[in-house]
Amino acid sequence: MRYIEPHAHMVSRTTDDYLAMVTAGCQAVCEPAFWAGFDRRSVDGFYDYFCQLTEHEPNRAAKFGLPHFAWLCINPKEAEDLKLAGEVIDIIPKFLDRPNVLGIGEIGLNKNSRNELAVFERHVDLAARHDQLILIHTPHLEDKRKGTKIIIDSLKSDKRINPGRVIIDHVEEHTIELVLDAGFWAGMTLYPESKCTVARAVDMIELYGRERLWMNSACDWGVSVPLAVPRAALEMRQRGHAAETVDEMIYQNPLRFLGQSGKFKLPG
Ligand SMILES: [Zn+2]
Repeated sequence: MRYIEPHAHMVSRTTDDYLAMVTAGCQAVCEPAFWAGFDRRSVDGFYDYFCQLTEHEPNRAAKFGLPHFAWLCINPKEAEDLKLAGEVIDIIPKFLDRPNVLGIGEIGLNKNSRNELAVFERHVDLAARHDQLILIHTPHLEDKRKGTKIIIDSLKSDKRINPGRVIIDHVEEHTIELVLDAGFWAGMTLYPESKCTVARAVDMIELYGRERLWMNSACDWGVSVPLAVPRAALEMRQRGHAAETVDEMIYQNPLRFLGQSGKFKLPG
């Protein structure tokens, strides 16, 4: 089996996780910029984090033969401080030419606040001006459907944005159709205790098809499962899906989306 992990916060994970992922068939890992579990106090904290994502972490992954790619942004959880968010957005262009940077993400909304939306739109503008792919985080629980609609409306109002170059992650049963019908890619984040379980993700594949859809573990510093994608593959096989179908979901689909960045190349 081969798969691509399109969304994992590897700076929070151990080398044992890298070893397990490679052993399970992982061909590449992509790491969106994320909240650290605490608010960073200055733009320098983000500068160092972006260096970690573009220098140190690719080297750590390379020790396991795993190509590592990154996405850059300030997370919506830290978007309430508009001055800091502006300073962080201003340093991102310095990093966009780095060889492992795929685009802007994971941007989005958390509580659907006015400041979060302002910072989201600044990121989208940055991506449009620099022709970058976009990876989007949607809010949790009761805020999710409303937040997803706000995000889609905002993107649709910016004529520079091609929906085929945007993935809206953390979709669930009540948001997946909104995202796919608007022409965007949709990501299903697999979590052991909250959010989408492996069984629910495979249900959604069976209901909505496989076009413009991927799965990811989004493993981070909290309770999460770095091998969630291969576990979903096992669930698909147990339900009778063909090996080629599984390969399309966990390898070819992420390759198709990420390959739109000329930098996403896998060793032959
Ligand atoms: Zn994430």
